Amino acid sequence: MYRAPLEELRFVLEELLGTGQLAAYPAFADYTDEVGASILQEAARFAESVLEPLNRPGDREGAHWTPDGVSTPKGFKEAYAQFVSDGWQQLGTDPRFGGQRVPQALNCAVQELWGASNLSFELCPMLTHGAVHALELCGSEAQQQLFLPRMASGEWTGTMVLTEPQAGSDLGEVRTRAVPEGDHYRLFGQKIFITWGEHDYTDNIIHMVLARIEGAPAGVKGISLFIVPKVLVNADGSLGERNEVRCISIEHKLGIHASPTCVLQFGQDRGAIAYLVGQPNRGLEYMFIMMNTARLGVGVQSYAVGDRAFQHAAEYARTRLQGKPAGAADAKRLPIIHHPDVRRMLLTMKSCTEASRAVAFYAGQQLDLAAHHPDAAARAAAQARADLLIPIVKAWNTETANEVAAIGVQVHGGMGFVEETGAAQYVRDVRITTIYEGTTGIQANDLIGRKIGRDRGAALSALISDMRRELEALEPRGEMPGETRDAALQAVALLESASRSLVGNIAAAPERALAVSVPFLKLCGLVTGGWLLAKSAAIAAAGRGAAGKDFYQSKIRTARFYAKQVLPQAIGLAKVVEEGAASVLEAEPERV
Ligand SMILES: Cc1cc2nc3c(=O)[nH]c(=O)nc-3n(C[C@H](O)[C@H](O)[C@H](O)COP(=O)(O)OP(=O)(O)OC[C@H]3O[C@@H](n4cnc5c(N)ncnc54)[C@H](O)[C@@H]3O)c2cc1C
Repeated sequence: MYRAPLEELRFVLEELLGTGQLAAYPAFADYTDEVGASILQEAARFAESVLEPLNRPGDREGAHWTPDGVSTPKGFKEAYAQFVSDGWQQLGTDPRFGGQRVPQALNCAVQELWGASNLSFELCPMLTHGAVHALELCGSEAQQQLFLPRMASGEWTGTMVLTEPQAGSDLGEVRTRAVPEGDHYRLFGQKIFITWGEHDYTDNIIHMVLARIEGAPAGVKGISLFIVPKVLVNADGSLGERNEVRCISIEHKLGIHASPTCVLQFGQDRGAIAYLVGQPNRGLEYMFIMMNTARLGVGVQSYAVGDRAFQHAAEYARTRLQGKPAGAADAKRLPIIHHPDVRRMLLTMKSCTEASRAVAFYAGQQLDLAAHHPDAAARAAAQARADLLIPIVKAWNTETANEVAAIGVQVHGGMGFVEETGAAQYVRDVRITTIYEGTTGIQANDLIGRKIGRDRGAALSALISDMRRELEALEPRGEMPGETRDAALQAVALLESASRSLVGNIAAAPERALAVSVPFLKLCGLVTGGWLLAKSAAIAAAGRGAAGKDFYQSKIRTARFYAKQVLPQAIGLAKVVEEGAASVLEAEPERV
């Protein structure tokens, strides 16, 4: 059974991040910790009682394709209807379109509950959110009025339609054609891998599609963003004719079986009617708005599955009898959780999940400060920090969650490898998170190219000095030993020296920087997680919040475990960043 980690979520929101303080900004004037706690309580109920029971049956049954459309596994359609009628889709969207604005960190917490209980289900609301956000920021007034209220409520869902067979990571290769026709365009082309591109939930789907207007420049500078409704919408909001967009098949894949991954054909005859969003040729820039929200969302959903895998593994480890205590041959057999190595595995899962959660919520909070802080300089600094952190959340969290889910199988022994126990589903489901919304390699390119290269490491240096300053100020107290803080400080120092070496290379020898960009990104995630866990331990040692004593003690111990058993990886990663590039570059492509 999945249990929403409410005490932990509240700790991170209320005590680590002080989310309640956002009430000082007009946008969050009605927000309090109590409001956040009651939203979480209700979301937990929905996740535990509606979404979780559908997770394994949905994996077994999968989505079905027919020439008339796609049907979702039994129970999904009803769950979605309840999700919408309970108002969950509206959480986090602009009140102008019927939404309820809440702090991003709380949004992350709620998304975690959906992702942990049923990743396939969560993808549809997540992508709708991204589409809503892009239209809120870039759509015309008329487009907003026509589409947003029904997308924000969940009455219609949204998609993100970028990928083509020859254009995956390299979106400059997008070939879908847009031909102008009066006040709209006609689209022709095939898109692949479109998540929830077709389904039986709603009577309309609003596709946000990248295409190239005839005569546009080649490459990324010639891509525009279009709205393509599955069913055309009349000016009065009523539904009109079916548009020329068809799902011609769905993929058979490793995981997330209940989430249809669609091949969409636009324009078999006259072309799919499409409406340009914003200016021509600025589509990729607009799509990035959507991708940033989605990348944070993927970082959240990955550790959410990791947490589910942890809970599952811990439950198994408490009941599976195997072996006896070391040196006591006559003793009774013990649940495997008594073996130190099993506890090590479980603590690795737990501590990495807690670190990933803290990093994701922290990044979410930076987005709120960037949008709502009254001081322009503070807004700019928060935006720079959010921009820096988003590829880290996307890539480090997802890579880590893959390891966490795999350890979950290991805790189960052979029973983890058979489908019956359910541990394997988490490994299969979470596997996609390092791939979609930009692979780990692409996130690392973004981190070192756009986020560090452009400001010559200024945003990263600011983060490093904040981490150091805060860690130096932490007083060892009670059960929070100085060694947790010291380990975090040492890791910050390693990150600082690795950054110096990397920043030097970005301009002078970009290939060298690219050869170690993923290890560098992992180092950033690992160290940021170490900082936030050490801070958490110090807060827990003071024990002033609403959580119970056991929770605080566990928090302190988990942080210590991370400092002692996980954070030392920083030594190896820093060495790779400083010395490892040549070993990649000397391997010629044809000789690897
Ligand atoms: C289940 C699923 C759901 C998806 N949902 C959607 C969706 O809703 N909408 C949508 O538009 N797309 C979607 N995608 C597509 C997804 O975003 C792409 O698969 C992903 O961006 C990678 O592109 P690709 O598969 O073409 O791999 P490629 O781009 O061919 O990459 C292959 C490998 O090469 C590496 N690589 C490529 N270029 C570089 C580079 N410049 N530097 C370093 N390494 C590089 C990659 O990191 C990767 O390891 C989905 C895919 C799947 C499988």
